Amino acid sequence: ALADVPLRIEGLTKRYAKSADRYAVRDLSFEVGKGQVLGLLGPNGAGKTTTLRMLMGLISPDAGEIRVFGQAIRPGAPVLSRVGAFVEGAGFLPHLSGRANLELYWAATGRPAEDSHLDEALEIAGLGDALARAVRTYSQGMRQRLAIAQAMLGLPDLLILDEPTNGLDPPQIREMRDVMIRYAEAGRTVIVSSHLLSEVEQSCTHLVVMHRGQLIQAGPVDEITGSGDTLLITTAEDIPEPVI
Ligand code: ATP
Repeated sequence: ALADVPLRIEGLTKRYAKSADRYAVRDLSFEVGKGQVLGLLGPNGAGKTTTLRMLMGLISPDAGEIRVFGQAIRPGAPVLSRVGAFVEGAGFLPHLSGRANLELYWAATGRPAEDSHLDEALEIAGLGDALARAVRTYSQGMRQRLAIAQAMLGLPDLLILDEPTNGLDPPQIREMRDVMIRYAEAGRTVIVSSHLLSEVEQSCTHLVVMHRGQLIQAGPVDEITGSGDTLLITTAEDIPEPVI
């Protein structure tokens, strides 16, 4: 049943200005199943962030449909309570501990404290003893994982991570990978964007590859990486212009 499908996108289209000669996202369709970790891949400007912002109900598409667990997404849609999102630049209060920051954040949502599942989110994020320390002492990787833990509060069924490996070094990228795998283990679903296949490949079960707003490949990760073509995608120049 559609109510069991974490995400189904159909014909999604967005231009930022009617006069813009380029579509940020054009006729994009794909589906994400329960328990999957879907990598949304593409070079800078491919339309990943635009797609994710539409999924979060932050901006509206010009055309097409987004269904999360069968319900249409629009700003303020009730089903958005089942969606958690990480976007770059989450602000924390530097003199408070990681734990206190997340408690404050959750309190601001107005939902009951016990619904936050704070300890489980923190365990999945793998922050350990650092939680009691002030955020100003955290490394970039730890801040990033605290922001991910914040997105995990309430243990949303669908977790959306926009470029969570940005700015991280290889050990931190490996930690982030483990966080995503742990999160999906309980049958929850993760969508993660990246412009580097190598950064997400090992945590993803499925991939959607975008270029200039369009889908150019989609499927289980072993089928796509096995094809050889997409391994080349690190810059926009690597991919031919889609035929429109
Ligand atoms: P990046 O990895 O750089 O974030 P992306 O794949 O997430 O890239 P988008 O940010 O979705 O790509 O951008 C898709 C296209 O839409 C680009 O051509 C971009 O310049 C344009 N764009 C994005 N945001 C806006 C905006 N607020 N106003 C106008 N154009 C925009």
